[in-house]
Amino acid sequence: MPKAVHILEHWKDKMFDPPKDTETCWGCGFAGNTRAHIQAVSHGGDESLDNLALLCASCHEMQEVICSSEEGVQAFKEAIKDGAPFMKVSYVRLEAMNDVFPFHKYIK
Ligand SMILES: [Zn+2]
Repeated sequence: MPKAVHILEHWKDKMFDPPKDTETCWGCGFAGNTRAHIQAVSHGGDESLDNLALLCASCHEMQEVICSSEEGVQAFKEAIKDGAPFMKVSYVRLEAMNDVFPFHKYIK
C-alpha cells in the first residue's frame, strides 16, 4: 500500500483545491488520513494511487457506502478533482455535491 504522501502527490495536481498536508481528510477537511480504496478490493479495486484517497474514519465509512456502485466510484473521483469535499468551497458548490457527500450540508 502506497504511503499517504504519495497518494496526495498523485492527486494534488488534479485537484481544484488540494489539502495542504496529508493529515487532512479529503471528505470533511478535519484531521484524519486513513488510506481508503475508492473502489473496494472486493469489487476489483487495486492499490494503485488512482484508487486511493485519504479520509478520516467517519468519511471512510460513508465513502464505502457511496462507492458501492460504479456510479458512486465515478462520482467520488470527480468530487475529489472538484475539491468539493473541502470546507473552503462555496456553499453553492456544497449544495451541488449533496448527492455525493450529503454530510456537506452540515458544514459551512
Ligand atoms: Zn472526514
